[in-house]
Amino acid sequence: METMKQYIEEAEQALLHTYNRYQVVLDKGEGVYLYDIEGKKYLDFCAGIAVFALGYNNQTYNDALKAQIDKVIHTSNYYYNVPAIEAAKKMKKVSQMDRVFFTNSGAEAVEGAIKAARKYAYLKDGRTDHEIIAMEHSFHGRTMGALSVTGNPKYREAFEPMIGNIRFAKMNDFKSVLSNVTDKTCAILFETVQGEGGIFPAEENFLKQVKALCEEKDILLILDEIQCGMGRTGYMYAWQKYGVKPDIMTTAKALGCGIPVGAFMMTEKVGANSLTSGDHGTTYGGNPLAAAAINVVLDLFEENHIIDNVKETGSYLEEKLDELVSQYDFIDTRRGLGLMQGLVFNRPVGDIITKALEKGLILINAGTNIIRFVPPLIITKKNIDDMIVILKTCLDEIAHQA
Ligand SMILES: *Cc1c(COP(=O)(O)O)cnc(C)c1O
Repeated sequence: METMKQYIEEAEQALLHTYNRYQVVLDKGEGVYLYDIEGKKYLDFCAGIAVFALGYNNQTYNDALKAQIDKVIHTSNYYYNVPAIEAAKKMKKVSQMDRVFFTNSGAEAVEGAIKAARKYAYLKDGRTDHEIIAMEHSFHGRTMGALSVTGNPKYREAFEPMIGNIRFAKMNDFKSVLSNVTDKTCAILFETVQGEGGIFPAEENFLKQVKALCEEKDILLILDEIQCGMGRTGYMYAWQKYGVKPDIMTTAKALGCGIPVGAFMMTEKVGANSLTSGDHGTTYGGNPLAAAAINVVLDLFEENHIIDNVKETGSYLEEKLDELVSQYDFIDTRRGLGLMQGLVFNRPVGDIITKALEKGLILINAGTNIIRFVPPLIITKKNIDDMIVILKTCLDEIAHQA
């Protein structure tokens, strides 16, 4: 067998260099642990970027996918299939939305949400110059439409021009949103908890003010729940904590727990007055295999009381991270909800993450100064204690070296 180093060299010869990857070749997973090809074990607080909610190698999940593979994997959206019907019904129930469109990724869900909002406004006034208000520091994906509403100029610059008529407001600053509203505004879009941008939860008051504004002016509220949704905050969708229901919502990441699938969903008001036959489509979106994954994921969420576990372990994680804030001068604060937490440093965190990896702990950043904690949602308090022990060893080394 080739060594990790050999595989990494081969990867760097063959793959387009769009990532600076950690120097590990992962091989298999079990519960909250991953193993590299040399057999080293890692406690995983990344979960494939908030994807593997149920942990690795869950037998029920694997069996459901294998059973579907033996029946049919793909049929196209020209026909109905039972797994997609079941998945859409379940998603309506947990999301409180009325209509579902399946996609293959988060970015595609955002693309669909933008198209639905523009079409809704177009049907009202026939104009073709509608505007969308998005937030600074947001992240919505890498395709051109999703990139256009991503509030990070560094990601956008080389790919200009973006889709037009996007304005950026400041998250949690209602005045900034208000000052960007014009008679052309068709939607206000943001993540209920900003992920890549640094784990910034939307404040309750901000959510409520934006919602009231949207209702007053018939502007659509689009919430991107791709990272913060699917139970991660202790609510199936983060907005449910505040009861501020969006008109359109996006979901992906943990939705398929590893099978690439996403969706944009909407209320009946938008569903009946936006995209219609011929307006949007996808070859793969919601194919029987992807839909089977959603079905087993949502069943297991219920059977295993995943949300209850997030509520309990989420507050324990908060407590433990808050202790670190008080123990180390170079940690400024903690932000987040449930099992979506950020530890904000007053220095870059890259070396800490690399040290943790060497010691068998997988962590990721969110921006240069923030360590992000998005573990599998089946995590236990013991797992959190184990993580803290390793992280503290790394932090002590940094403290001594300074
Ligand atoms: C990851 C993410 C996306 C993009 O999803 P992809 O599946 O990578 O296209 C969009 N929005 C948010 C909030 C995300 O975290």
